[in-house]
Amino acid sequence: MNKTFDDLINLIREYNPTEVGKVTKAYNYAKMLHNGQYRESGEEYITHPVNVAYILAEMHADSDTVCAGLLHDTIEDTPVRKEDIAEEFNADVANLVDGVTKISKMNFSSKEEENGANTRKIITSITEDVRIIIVKLADRLHNMRTMEFKKPFKQKENSLETMEIFAPLAYCIGAYRIKSELEDISFKYLMPDMYSSILENKLKIEASSEECLKEMFYKIHRILSDRDIPNEIKIRTKNIYGIYKKLSEGYKISNIHDLLALKIMVDDIDRCYLSLRYIHELYHPVNDKFKDYICNPKTNMYRSLHTTVFGKDDRLVQAQVRTFDMDKVDSFGLTTYWDINKGEARHTMQQDLKNKYQFFRSLVEINKEFGDNQDFVRQVKSELFSNNIYVYNTDGSVIELPVGSTIIDFAYKISKTVGNTLVGAIVNDRYVPVDYVLHNKDRVKVLTDNLSFGPREEWIDKAQTTGAKVLIREFNRRI
Ligand code: MN
Repeated sequence: MNKTFDDLINLIREYNPTEVGKVTKAYNYAKMLHNGQYRESGEEYITHPVNVAYILAEMHADSDTVCAGLLHDTIEDTPVRKEDIAEEFNADVANLVDGVTKISKMNFSSKEEENGANTRKIITSITEDVRIIIVKLADRLHNMRTMEFKKPFKQKENSLETMEIFAPLAYCIGAYRIKSELEDISFKYLMPDMYSSILENKLKIEASSEECLKEMFYKIHRILSDRDIPNEIKIRTKNIYGIYKKLSEGYKISNIHDLLALKIMVDDIDRCYLSLRYIHELYHPVNDKFKDYICNPKTNMYRSLHTTVFGKDDRLVQAQVRTFDMDKVDSFGLTTYWDINKGEARHTMQQDLKNKYQFFRSLVEINKEFGDNQDFVRQVKSELFSNNIYVYNTDGSVIELPVGSTIIDFAYKISKTVGNTLVGAIVNDRYVPVDYVLHNKDRVKVLTDNLSFGPREEWIDKAQTTGAKVLIREFNRRI
């Protein structure tokens, strides 16, 4: 499973041939510095940074980031300093390595407070340069893949931390592949028996549905090609942890509507909708399972059409229809920009993070509001990393909120003025008070009145989100 330096260089040559020399230089530098160091598996230490860089190169990371992947443990584990790296390479590479170093000193046997401080550093580094988190995610992924040589206690600790911090972070920036793999490896270490039993069932279902999926695959491929829609189709099954979550909600494995999916990729948006029509002509859709994430993207910028159809032998199969470009964003999230916008990666990514990703603004607010590290971590976990609900505004746009949010949270999420003049709401055509607890898919129309008293102090306890609490407090200080 481990990749070699040759694998890395071949990959770089494919997508970024002009940078082969720079990456080779970083490899030689790191190899020289880590000389004589070994991993717990007995391998030379350099295998780890090479594989971290490889994971980054798979996402077509820019050369500064790939070099940072190769050098990411040098400041911590060798005599080299940030200034040396800046001189040898450039300031960006040095900043990235330094950023990763600052957040990698996690030490779980230490006091809770220290953990809080470390976790805060990890999470807030995203506001400086999101590439720091991406290198860290690649680092964590390779460490998780090669964890069999660690002590069982350490395996569990790392898995827990990965589940609580790194997988949600990967989800926030839309890096689904990394998120799914991190979840499955952690789950394997945390609940080994459950993991094997689900895996076994999953393999059984995959085997028994192979014929059905293949037939659907060819039929859909043919009908689209006949209609002049060039397409590529892939078969995918839900990740093990995803299945586990569904099972613990009470579903039977055979009733998980997106357990099996066909991913259909076409050239442009028009062809997505046209393809959907032909698929529905071939296979009856389950009407209430259709989702249009193209016009209503997920808050982490995932876009696709989802439909569940009655496949062969009454099997439920999900079809995900999207363009090739969307598929890149869907698999790699924010990191896709490396590909789309070469050279401008950092700026574009940081800008889009601010403007398009709903979690980012909340994170900045929580960071401002919570001085204590442990409070900060607790709030991020409950407000950003736990299960969220998605509700509709009157114009159909989707607002993401933590479970337990009320009309008050919704109103302040829209704007300060809406929150400060809020008097009630109509949810799914029914009048509700401001402390009404929202549910997934609610349609919300807030009612405001410029002559209202404004938010009362007791609303603070009725709100879940930091943004709302801060603004209510601010209003009450003013009067
Ligand atoms: Mn490392």
